[in-house]
Amino acid sequence: MSSIGRPYRVFDKKVSQLFVERTGTARRERVQNTEQDGEWSGWRCCSDARAIRRTAQEIEHEAGVWGEHSLLRCPVPSRSPQASSKSRPLSEQNPPPVWFGEYLSRLRDTYAPELPPPRQFPDPLGGLIRTILSQQNTRRVAQRQWEVLTATYPQWEAALLDGPDGIEATLKSAGGGLSRMKADYIYGILAHLQEHHGGLSLRFLREFPHTPEGHEQARQALAALPGVGHKTVALVLLFDLRRPAMPVDGNMERAAKRLELVPAAWNSHKVERWYAEVMPADWETRFALHISGVRHGRDTCRSKHPLCPQCPLREFCPSASIFELGEAGEREPSELEW
Ligand code: SF4
Repeated sequence: MSSIGRPYRVFDKKVSQLFVERTGTARRERVQNTEQDGEWSGWRCCSDARAIRRTAQEIEHEAGVWGEHSLLRCPVPSRSPQASSKSRPLSEQNPPPVWFGEYLSRLRDTYAPELPPPRQFPDPLGGLIRTILSQQNTRRVAQRQWEVLTATYPQWEAALLDGPDGIEATLKSAGGGLSRMKADYIYGILAHLQEHHGGLSLRFLREFPHTPEGHEQARQALAALPGVGHKTVALVLLFDLRRPAMPVDGNMERAAKRLELVPAAWNSHKVERWYAEVMPADWETRFALHISGVRHGRDTCRSKHPLCPQCPLREFCPSASIFELGEAGEREPSELEW
């Protein structure tokens, strides 16, 4: 394969013809398919690999040969985006593929045919602290820490009085990691609320209207809290305030990069922004994607040894053949950049 250069992609004749008509960015040449010992008409692409792949997927979809004739993988270029593209929306820089709607419905049908109820904390502050406890913890340990914390401090005012050292000791007594860091976050949030909002509550977030402007006001108020990052903000908005945020966890991000929905070089914040741009703006669709996407990444598109043969997204996935051929199965994900 290395003899014909990269990036490239090989198609059958019909798809190839459509491709060169549509793009004019590739030149035809005969390439040998060494795996099957046959000869193919193919294209050696000489411009942006991502644009080529998108166009190819659209043509394959239209030609009804979706995925069947894309025999060679077109790698994602690792170079950083051009300065001129920085101001463009991510959804324009990297449009979703034609199968994006099918991706959403297959994930939901497979992993979340019935959605769990959203969280029911009386005050979103409880949801925020529960979210902080879940970071770098298993669900079981986070729940244990939550139970110990709320038993020790029936009112958050007691935690504020106890200070970060007391909160840390409480968390440590329940096991789990990063107790000091989480104690500092929790104490910092409580102190901030006391100083700037006159009380230990986030109920005021529910009073912002359920409009794009109201969602943005809630987002900004959460982001202003010390130690609260974009993922935590999005989780609280989605789970505790029923607002259409789009949190993307590591499981979703890994699968999105393997599916080449987003470039491998994008960081988690950029991936989250992309999803927020391309997803329908209603709460339920976003909630369903988050639930099903996390389950898909955790149960099927696992970090090591993903279960590609049983994956409902296999026919869309350029990485499936790589894992199935065993070219990458024994290597660490970090080596593969996704
Ligand atoms: S086919 Fe494999 S690599 Fe692709 S999304 Fe499914 S499990 Fe992940």
